[in-house]
Amino acid sequence: MDFSLNEEQTAIRQTCRDFAEQEIKPRAEEMDAQGAFPYQLVRQMGELGLLGLPFPEEYGGAGADFLSYCLAIEEISRGDVSVGITMEAHTSLGATPFSLFGSQQQKEQYLTPLARGEQLWAFGLTEPEAGSDSGGTQTRAILQDGCWHINGSKAFITNAGTDMTGGVTITAVTGLRSDGRKEITNLIVPKGTTGYAIGRPYKKMGWKASDTRPLSFEDCVIPEANMLGRPGEGFKQFMQILDAGRVAIAALSVGLAQACLDEALKYAQQRKQFGMPIGQFQAIQFKLADMDMEIELARLAYFKAAWMNMQGRPYSREASIAKLYASEAAKRAADQAVQIHGGYGFMDEYPVSRYWRSVKINEIGEGTSEVQRMVIAKMLLATQPQ
Ligand SMILES: Cc1cc2nc3c(=O)[nH]c(=O)nc-3n(C[C@H](O)[C@H](O)[C@H](O)COP(=O)(O)OP(=O)(O)OC[C@H]3O[C@@H](n4cnc5c(N)ncnc54)[C@H](O)[C@@H]3O)c2cc1C
Repeated sequence: MDFSLNEEQTAIRQTCRDFAEQEIKPRAEEMDAQGAFPYQLVRQMGELGLLGLPFPEEYGGAGADFLSYCLAIEEISRGDVSVGITMEAHTSLGATPFSLFGSQQQKEQYLTPLARGEQLWAFGLTEPEAGSDSGGTQTRAILQDGCWHINGSKAFITNAGTDMTGGVTITAVTGLRSDGRKEITNLIVPKGTTGYAIGRPYKKMGWKASDTRPLSFEDCVIPEANMLGRPGEGFKQFMQILDAGRVAIAALSVGLAQACLDEALKYAQQRKQFGMPIGQFQAIQFKLADMDMEIELARLAYFKAAWMNMQGRPYSREASIAKLYASEAAKRAADQAVQIHGGYGFMDEYPVSRYWRSVKINEIGEGTSEVQRMVIAKMLLATQPQ
C-alpha cells in the first residue's frame, strides 16, 4: 500500500497551499464581513488552471487526476471555505456533468469556457419541496415543437447568480416511467434565457462570500438539444455527480478542520495563563491531539474514496463515509478551536469564530449526515444474506 503522492499531486497541492496562504487567507475576514463574491480570486484561480483541474486538456482542463483535484480543494478551503465551495460547486456540480454526460458539441460549447475559468456554472437539484428527497423534484419540462418548456423553482443554488456565471443545469420531471415513477432529465439553462429568473442571494450563517440563490422558471423555453444524455437519465446522472461531489466536500471539510488546528496550535503556544502557555496544559494538548488524529483519519477516508473513483470502482459507500466523517470531524475541530481560544474565539477578529459559523453547512450540503448514514446503512444491509 502506497500513501505517497506523485510529483503532479504534490505540485498541485503546493501551488494551492501557496495561493491560499498568500492570496486567499489575508482577504478571508473582509470577504466574510462584506459577503462579497471573490471575483478577483476566482479569476486568478482560473488563470492558474484551478477551475478545470480534472478535465481533459482538449476541453481547456488541466488533465489532472481526481485526487489532485481533491487535494486542491483541501488547500483552497484551508485558506477560505467560501472560495473552496465556489471552486467545488463549479467543478463537481457545474462542469463535471458536461464532462461525464455531455455530447461532443456540449463539451466544446459549455465545458471548455468552464474548464478555462472564463465562466462559472451551477447545478440545480434542490427545490423548496425536494431536498433530501431529491427524486421528489417538482419542476416540470414539456417537450413541444422542438423545445423544452420549463416551469418550477430551485432553492439554495451555488454560483447561480455571479457575473461570471454562464448558466445552470437543472433536474426536471419530463414524464412518467413505465413503473409509474417520475422520469427525471437534466436540462441546460443558459443565464439570460427568457422565463429564467435568478433570485437575490440568501443571507447565510457561513460561506458568506459564496453565491447562493433561489431560481425560478416560468414558461422558460430552451432548445430540445439542451439536454444532458437522454430523457430519463437525470436521476442516475446526479447520483454519480453526487458521489464525486461528496469526496470533494470531504476534502473541503478536511481543509477547514486543518485551518482550525493551525489557529489552535498557534494560539496555544502564545496565550499564557497561570504563568505558562496554555499549550503546556494536558487538557489543551489532548484537544490538539484529537483534532490532529481526526483530521488524519478524515484525510485518509477521502484519499481512499478518491483512489476508488480513479480505479473506476463503485465507491458510493466510501464517498458517504468520507463526507460524513470529515464534516463531523471538522465540526468538532471548529468547536475545540474556539474552546482553546476561550473568549477571544467568540470574537470576530479571530478566524476560528468564522470557521465555527461556516462548518455547520458541511453536514448539510450535498446530502445531510442523515442521508449519508442512509446510504451507508442501505449498502450494509444489501450485503447481508436475508
Ligand atoms: C449554502 C448552501 C448551498 C447549497 N448549494 C446547492 C447547490 O449548488 N445545488 C443544489 O442542488 N443544492 C444545494 N444546496 C441544497 C442542499 O443540498 C440541501 O439543503 C440538502 O440536500 C438538504 O435538503 P433540505 O435543506 O431541503 O433539507 P430536508 O431534506 O428538508 O431535511 C431536513 C432534515 O430532515 C432530515 N431528513 C430528511 N429526510 C430524512 C430521512 N428519510 N430520514 C432521516 N432524516 C431525514 C435531514 O437530514 C435534515 O436533518 C445548498 C444548500 C445550502 C444551505
